[in-house]
Amino acid sequence: TASHNEERKKLGPRLVKNAAYTFVRPDPFEETELVGVSQTALKDLGIDPESTKEKDFKDAVSGNKIITFDGEPKDSDIYPWAQCYGGYQFGSWAGQLGDGRAISLFETTNPNSGERYELQLKGAGKTPYSRFADGRAVVRSSIREFVVSEALNALRIPTTRALSLVLAPEARVRRERMEPGAIVARFAQTWLRLGTFDLARSRGDRVLIRQLADYTAEDVFGGWSNLPSKLASTEGKDLLEPSRGASKEDLEGEGETQENRYTRLYREIARRNAKMVAHWQAYAFTNGVLNTDNTSVYGLSIDFGPFAFLDNFDPNYTPNHDDHMLRYSYKNQPSIIWWNLVRLGEALGELIGSGARCDETEFVEQGVRENWSDELIKRAETLIGQTGDEYRLIFMAEYKRLMTARLGLKSFKESDFGELYSELLDSLEALELDFNHAFRRLSYIKTEEIDSDEKRKDIAGRFFHTEGLTSLAGSEADARERLAAWLEKYRSRVVEDWGEASEASEERLRAMRAVNPKFVPRSWILDEVIERVEKKGEREILDRVMNMALNPFEEEWGGDREEEERFCGDVPRYQRAMQCSCSS
Ligand code: AMP
Ligand code: MG
Ligand code: MG
Repeated sequence: TASHNEERKKLGPRLVKNAAYTFVRPDPFEETELVGVSQTALKDLGIDPESTKEKDFKDAVSGNKIITFDGEPKDSDIYPWAQCYGGYQFGSWAGQLGDGRAISLFETTNPNSGERYELQLKGAGKTPYSRFADGRAVVRSSIREFVVSEALNALRIPTTRALSLVLAPEARVRRERMEPGAIVARFAQTWLRLGTFDLARSRGDRVLIRQLADYTAEDVFGGWSNLPSKLASTEGKDLLEPSRGASKEDLEGEGETQENRYTRLYREIARRNAKMVAHWQAYAFTNGVLNTDNTSVYGLSIDFGPFAFLDNFDPNYTPNHDDHMLRYSYKNQPSIIWWNLVRLGEALGELIGSGARCDETEFVEQGVRENWSDELIKRAETLIGQTGDEYRLIFMAEYKRLMTARLGLKSFKESDFGELYSELLDSLEALELDFNHAFRRLSYIKTEEIDSDEKRKDIAGRFFHTEGLTSLAGSEADARERLAAWLEKYRSRVVEDWGEASEASEERLRAMRAVNPKFVPRSWILDEVIERVEKKGEREILDRVMNMALNPFEEEWGGDREEEERFCGDVPRYQRAMQCSCSS
């Protein structure tokens, strides 16, 4: 109740024992303004767009009104909550973290799709997990999260989502300076992170680990039978099929030495993360803070701090200003996600190693020590290792699938990896060219436009920034030659898959433009939006950029044409590869 909430607030931030979440009510801002709603999110949640004009909508997404009860809640009502989790940050155990400024309101199932989401407000006030901080979020980080969540989703990259953005222009939130506040209403199939399991492990709470694992399998994934049975085959054909549910026979046939249900749960989490990070690599997205608390159990992109899309292709780029070791650089992402998944394997180690097919009471009564036998540890290590092999296979298969599509090929040949992908990426890196622009620009080039060396050298210019090559990149003639040589190989691969007819070119280019975005929300664009919304009081710019982010493959968006082209054109030279600090 409200009075209980006051009591709880007086307790302040604390180490929470024996619990995975705490009931807590949002602490609303006095004055708020609803400045953005994602049209795609409305559809996915099954909300009528008309209803967003009503006061109830704004009240709900700004934490002013709890719509799951009227007045004082009854025991059976849904009361808001904040989750408890921990995490390894930059490789070291950081202890309890938790939702320090996010408060979940309720779960809702879209009646059309059957997809269930947990809706939460970020920046809605203090919780027991706020530690030394204020429970608030500033406008700049909220705009960034609002836009990028929906942009990733539009690029078909698994991600947590954003429904709306509310500003509190009068609020004074202290960061390096005083800033206005904001609340993002966001949603996801689950907000569980690998760090949720880490925390239970750090408490030595083996029973909670089992409860969390059971909850994840039964509630989040919809039942044990939805989890994969056999290890993915190394030939790779079935690698990318959605996890095959295990049949009854599969499960009954599982002997002592075969994988058990907790291993299947672990593998499902690893498979999903492998696919997600393959998308990041294929679209050159960097998260920037890949701590275990920022790695999703559902394989979603989660926690948007100093994230960025790469501009010029640079594998060592990290968007995180404080990441001096480049731990979270673009090229490290697949191995860091696996590092995080090994921590999860350790947390689940007893369950993985023992099979834990006994019922819960029996499990609770078993001692910790007797259960961690050498034999169990060995078995857990083997199964985690096998899951690692599967993770790598699935990552590679998904990455190849995405890159094949981005290059407009129908099939993947082993030689494509070296001759097409690597050579293109090496050239982009050496010549300091833009990654996502290169793929979009390739999506307009017909085979007949590159059927002679002269034409290829000429068209190679399309990949340069308008000011030409940057000074470090050597002579333009050499660069043209290098790109022309690649285009020649590329052309023959395209012809091999599609033939030479010009209708085939049309069809290929259409398919390419449906996977190679014209627009991605780069850091310089987000900075401009923030500047205009926060300092200049503009509002429509946010709608226009959001519309581009929601429809990234279009040619034009019916807004300000000049602005649209500017946002899709060259990244201004001194705004390339910007970095961001963690203050938010
Ligand atoms: P992050 O770096 O975004 O993964 O956040 C790490 C932890 O700090 C999480 O537990 C956040 O909830 C918490 N946190 C970050 N900023 C704030 C804030 N302004 N108020 C309360 N908690 C915060
Ligand atoms: Mg986080
Ligand atoms: Mg964060």
